[in-house]
Amino acid sequence: MARVYNFSAGPSMLPEAVLKTAADEMLDYQGSGQSVMEMSHRSKTYDKIIKDAEALLREIMNIPDNYKVMFLQGGGSTQFAMVALNFMNKNNKADYIITGQWAKKAYKEAARYGDAKAVASSEDKTFSYIPKTDKSMFREDADYVYICMNNTIYGTVYHELPDTGDIPLIADISSCILSEPIDVTKFGALFAGAQKNMAPAGLTIAIVREDLIGNAMDICPTMLNYKTHADADSLFNTPPCYTIYIAKLVLEWIKNEVGGLDKMKELNEKKAKLLYDFLDNSELFKGTVVPEDRSLMNVPFVTGNPDLDAKFVKEATEAGLVNIKGHRTVGGMRASIYNAMPYEGVVALVDFMKKFEAENK
Ligand SMILES: *Cc1c(COP(=O)(O)O)cnc(C)c1O
Repeated sequence: MARVYNFSAGPSMLPEAVLKTAADEMLDYQGSGQSVMEMSHRSKTYDKIIKDAEALLREIMNIPDNYKVMFLQGGGSTQFAMVALNFMNKNNKADYIITGQWAKKAYKEAARYGDAKAVASSEDKTFSYIPKTDKSMFREDADYVYICMNNTIYGTVYHELPDTGDIPLIADISSCILSEPIDVTKFGALFAGAQKNMAPAGLTIAIVREDLIGNAMDICPTMLNYKTHADADSLFNTPPCYTIYIAKLVLEWIKNEVGGLDKMKELNEKKAKLLYDFLDNSELFKGTVVPEDRSLMNVPFVTGNPDLDAKFVKEATEAGLVNIKGHRTVGGMRASIYNAMPYEGVVALVDFMKKFEAENK
């Protein structure tokens, strides 16, 4: 059976080599006589898997020792509450930059627990750019400033981080984790749902500076307190064992096959350039994001004619280029070209777009 090129915003493609290893190890993981799915999370065999996954993540992302790495559940969306419950703890104030649906949801969740302020937004132009900010826009007594680094739905990314001075910067990196190097020291905390660039759904990564852990609000549920999971090395309760195992395989793929995040970035830039260059020169298709804020991971584009967009999506699907329909708030198409999308997949997409353009002029 032929595999399709899956341009879904998430869950998304996984590297084929990872799927093959997982298949090979499905019935008998390295002589244990069982699948990782069936294994006790307290077993020696599993302990090595979760420890290796953390060590690999630390090595690949260059995470300093004063940051805790946690393997959690509940998706990016649970982090919206966790961030507020754990970090809105001194003055009960936090500043949010609204760059799309995910940032807005995080802001609304925080507003349930304290004084959340939307300090900037790009909603006026359907989130097609990253709003400019400077230090004076943030409240001096804000407990943190929050951003969504890569905006999955709208295809924008922060190429330059906001200057927040001494206020900790918290970022949702769900759709750009591991796509390029990130300077972790610039953040108080980072989190990501795994299903975009790391693993199947079910795992959420949190990377939190140690001094920010341990001051959660009194009402914070035990399971939503970072301290609970940091103190227990992510084994307070049963973690998403199998998903962590796949994340480990993906991390090994990045380290050994790709050659690290600098290389990963090069590959991602090469893929994105192919698509953006085509969009910039096409007479039919156009990108929806201002060039300086374009994402390497999510590329929304339109023809300007909803009927033609629908025809494109239908014919692309028939050609094995699937899940390319845009989000309903943007319309048109969106190609998510995460780490595991091979270069050949983007070549196939651009070739198909050329053909479609010629046939529909
Ligand atoms: C997908 C996504 C989320 C939501 O993740 P869930 O795991 O579905 O809760 C949050 N933020 C960003 C940037 C995303 O891309």
